[in-house]
Amino acid sequence: MANFQRIKGFADLFSPESDVFSFLENTARNVFSRYGYEELRTPLLEHTEIFTRGIGTETDIVQKEMYTFEDKGGRMLTMRPEATAGVMRAYIESSRYAKESVSKFFTYGPMFRYERPQKGRMRQFHQLNCECLGASEPLADAEVILMLMRFLNEAGLKNLVLEVNSLGCRQCRPLYKEKLHEFLLGLDTDQLCEDCRRRMETNPLRVLDCKVPGCKALIDKAPQILEHNCPECKAHFGIVRDILDAAGLPYVLNPRLVRGLDYYNRTTFEVVSTSIGSQGSVAGGGRYDGLIADLGGPDTPGIGFACGMERLAMILADSGAWQLPESVDFFLAVLDEQALQKGMLLAQHLREAGRRGEVSFAVRSLKSQMRQASKAGAAKCLLLGGNEMAMGVVTVKDMETGEQQTAPMNAILDFV
Ligand SMILES: [Zn+2]
Ligand SMILES: [Zn+2]
Repeated sequence: MANFQRIKGFADLFSPESDVFSFLENTARNVFSRYGYEELRTPLLEHTEIFTRGIGTETDIVQKEMYTFEDKGGRMLTMRPEATAGVMRAYIESSRYAKESVSKFFTYGPMFRYERPQKGRMRQFHQLNCECLGASEPLADAEVILMLMRFLNEAGLKNLVLEVNSLGCRQCRPLYKEKLHEFLLGLDTDQLCEDCRRRMETNPLRVLDCKVPGCKALIDKAPQILEHNCPECKAHFGIVRDILDAAGLPYVLNPRLVRGLDYYNRTTFEVVSTSIGSQGSVAGGGRYDGLIADLGGPDTPGIGFACGMERLAMILADSGAWQLPESVDFFLAVLDEQALQKGMLLAQHLREAGRRGEVSFAVRSLKSQMRQASKAGAAKCLLLGGNEMAMGVVTVKDMETGEQQTAPMNAILDFV
């Protein structure tokens, strides 16, 4: 037999890790549906061009990280590296924009990026995404942020910092970019990292979020984007902040928050966990008003966010806040061959009535079955052997107190 192994960067999720993921998904569904979001499931594979157009050819994702291949029909396909582009494609293709003024979607599932695997970062990773399409109002920005924070709160995550910024619009951002470019040219550019020297010509905004310490120090005095927002952008962001303030949601203004993708404008936000050090971003998003038009749809505004499940699961697991929520009600130990079938039927009866539990498939010593019952964390151990069969009863042992009583088989539900 060949010694098969997982692909590097791909994980098998066993319980309790898989339980944490389910819990996060269920919490998200519950919270997002309260805000009027519907679940949208798009394919894992899309035409490559969706991502090159939607994410931008200048990004690391498109240049280095996509799983792209030609299928037998000669199509260039890509395993989705993020969700937004596919959602936009579905939104445009289904003409949803013609049927309703505002559409709200959430998606959940695996994404694929060929990155260096590290703790909390896999090549197949999972994201929750929300997209609110058709609304340009600042209230939509505020709702999205409030909903994200509500979800993280109900998922039990603590020590979170919400950072917000406004990147301006098509009118004011080019002017700011020029200012920033001028400022960068005035620096001793030899001291900037290689990436930044390239970015200052292609996309100077990205220099602002460079993580290299030398760059950080140099751009400390860079002109601030918020001060260069046009009056409309200022007013928009002002309303977003007013609502967050009024809702009692604390946040930090981070003028360097430009996000990795080129399509963001106006409000951007990120949630950082202070529990996991410098790589602490757990969710982020922003407004992307030009994206739908870039992808061939009508000029429709949009705002959304993505939330990395691996990070969330890791924080929850590390915090100790996570516990398996369900208890096990019974373990049915079978003491001799003639009781095996009856035992299975009794267990079935209990499960149909909503009880959780296990039943032996084979007769083993009482001692080993009791050990199994306590390992499973069962509240009650039910004993069924020849004697019990003859009398139509089951012996019920309370695993905590050790107390034993005899229960009529046909009234077993009253005892478990
Ligand atoms: Zn503007
Ligand atoms: Zn740099």
